[in-house]
Amino acid sequence: MHIDPECPVDLHTHTTASDGSLSPEDLVDLARQGGLCAIAVTDHDTTDGVIRAIEAGQRAGVVVLPAVEISSQHKPGSMHILGYFIDVGEPHLQDTLAEMVRNRDRRNRGVIERLNNLGVQITLEEVAEYAGGDVLGRPHFARALVSKGVVSTIQEAFDQYLDAGAAAAVPKEKLPPEYVIDMIHGAGGLAVLAHPYQLRLGDGEELEKRVRLLCDQGLDGIECFYPEHSEPQTAIYLSLAARYSLVATGGTDFHGSSKNQTRLGLQPPLRASCVLQLAARRARNICPRS
Ligand code: AMP
Ligand code: ZN
Ligand code: FE
Ligand code: FE
Repeated sequence: MHIDPECPVDLHTHTTASDGSLSPEDLVDLARQGGLCAIAVTDHDTTDGVIRAIEAGQRAGVVVLPAVEISSQHKPGSMHILGYFIDVGEPHLQDTLAEMVRNRDRRNRGVIERLNNLGVQITLEEVAEYAGGDVLGRPHFARALVSKGVVSTIQEAFDQYLDAGAAAAVPKEKLPPEYVIDMIHGAGGLAVLAHPYQLRLGDGEELEKRVRLLCDQGLDGIECFYPEHSEPQTAIYLSLAARYSLVATGGTDFHGSSKNQTRLGLQPPLRASCVLQLAARRARNICPRS
């Protein structure tokens, strides 16, 4: 991989293929303007934006890592697993993602029913107008609720209606983490625990126990650098990465205007050396099998 280890990268971004507001091409353009030399496109439950982003990246001189973000079973918070360097043509991965999108559709119909029962007149077709692909997510509901004047901000839509436990919330079926990790490995990828603070296990022994279990299940990395992580949290996640031989990654979870936080690229910047570490780990993992 030809990449300067010092140049800035962002390894967690969403496009219109899921719930981001920028097309893959516009995202790559923004990355180029922002001086990033690599991004990973980590859409929820779909790789539909990856090929377009890679092609745009080749034109713009931005390396695009094929990736995906998958929610998995976990309590009390949520566990998202990122798959980097996946082969997007791998059949088991694509079959499972297709099933996850069908689960989503069932959940989405449930949310519409709950909203209607609460007196909010809204249809799935109205929500779908905000989506650029097959993956319809809660940020699309939030945007539709804002534009209909039901709430005034995206945050209010989540607080009142969409967050877990809110009035119109319907849980989505999720796969166990070990299944998600195996599936990512089966597609030639690396599994990385996203934004560990969202596990809601604190930053002590509970978190470490969970990370240890995930490591036994094949976890390859942990997202240490993330806008919502405090400095002490980042230090704790870096220490876990070092002690459990995990690659320390990072990203902004960029969603464009679908989410309040709109800037692409971490501050201070994340360097491309972590991409090279991922690539090296992938080479080590894959060689013994072939
Ligand atoms: P879904 O996968 O459809 O359940 O939607 C999850 C998406 O909603 C994630 O991308 C989150 O970033 C986004 N999300 C969750 N909570 C909030 C919130 N309070 N404000 C804005 N976006 C949120
Ligand atoms: Zn999202
Ligand atoms: Fe996430
Ligand atoms: Fe994300």
